[in-house]
Amino acid sequence: MKNHSHSLSHPAWIEINLSQFANNLRAIRQQIGQRKLCLPIKANAYGHGIIPLAQTAISAGADYLAVSCLQEGALLRKAGIKIPILVMGAIHEDQITELLAYELELSISSLFKAQLVAKKCQHSSHRCRVHLEIDTGMQRTGVRPESAIELLNYLIKEPCFEVAGVYSHLATADKPNNEFAHHQIQTFKKFIDTHIKNSNISPICHLANSGGVCYYPESYFDMVRPGLLALGYFPERTTPLSEIASFFSVKAKIAYFKVVSANCGIGYGHTYKTKTQSRIVTIPLGYGDGYRRALSNKGQVLIRGKRHPIVGNVCMDQIMVDVGGDETYVGEEVVLIGRQKNEEITLEEIAEWCDTISYEILCGFNDRLPRFYL
Ligand SMILES: *Cc1c(COP(=O)(O)O)cnc(C)c1O
Repeated sequence: MKNHSHSLSHPAWIEINLSQFANNLRAIRQQIGQRKLCLPIKANAYGHGIIPLAQTAISAGADYLAVSCLQEGALLRKAGIKIPILVMGAIHEDQITELLAYELELSISSLFKAQLVAKKCQHSSHRCRVHLEIDTGMQRTGVRPESAIELLNYLIKEPCFEVAGVYSHLATADKPNNEFAHHQIQTFKKFIDTHIKNSNISPICHLANSGGVCYYPESYFDMVRPGLLALGYFPERTTPLSEIASFFSVKAKIAYFKVVSANCGIGYGHTYKTKTQSRIVTIPLGYGDGYRRALSNKGQVLIRGKRHPIVGNVCMDQIMVDVGGDETYVGEEVVLIGRQKNEEITLEEIAEWCDTISYEILCGFNDRLPRFYL
């Protein structure tokens, strides 16, 4: 599906291998058995492109999609996606009418918000499917377990609601054997056992994020919500699911080449000076695309399967790389994230160089780099 015409052959791009994505979803399915699989697809599917990933996930058998806000849910519905979509973010009063119109499932975290929704529902013919969000320790959104019973009873009693789910979110499951993660799982389990098991409703109970799926099988309940893991990355360096692999690469073509003499400053601020006579190549992407400026004098790229350092500051649209004495030509392919021959620059490495997490690097890539789906 490589289609360069859409990109006007832009000289820097992202490649996304959807068949590996489908493999990852299959591997997760194997791991979770009969439970449902919800794909969190917020923030443009962590920079991978929300619509192609949603479509692939649906053909691979995902049961649910989860987004952060109305905007993302509406985008999916406008693309013709019919499967259930959970909005995980808090409800904003002025968006309720549209949330209902797009048939998105809402997260309910307070009686106040539930009543606002109920008021709007009275003008609508169908019932609103909601998920009761319980805060078991994330302290972000969600009702405390003590207050959740009253809210649950209200949702059950109010005819406009259908309690489709009950969920919570893990704060520390990215590490195996974490005490607080165990505590959250137990708190959630206790709530389900006490208030849901013996009730006359049968909502989907869900808790596990990627860390939960990787390291806490007791967090699976009826459905799991792994985002990062579905994209082929593990919260920790340990890799419990062997078939999972990442499928996101960033590539470019060398735009310019020159020989620079020793002791010569490179780029804005001359933050790098050549030690010897060097071959410097210019690569046509920069922080304006989401390739982070923190990689200045720190990051590396692959050319002909070999690592070379970024020299000088990352510019908005270009970076410079010192290839030492190596031969390279204008137009040759450079890999900024991904594999080339026997060498690989991983997303985790980039994140470490930027002193951040993989998630933030992925979300940072905007639409100037065209995305090619293989
Ligand atoms: C983002 C998010 C997820 C997915 O998190 P990962 O760490 O990518 O698996 C799951 N649940 C909620 C509520 C989220 O906000």
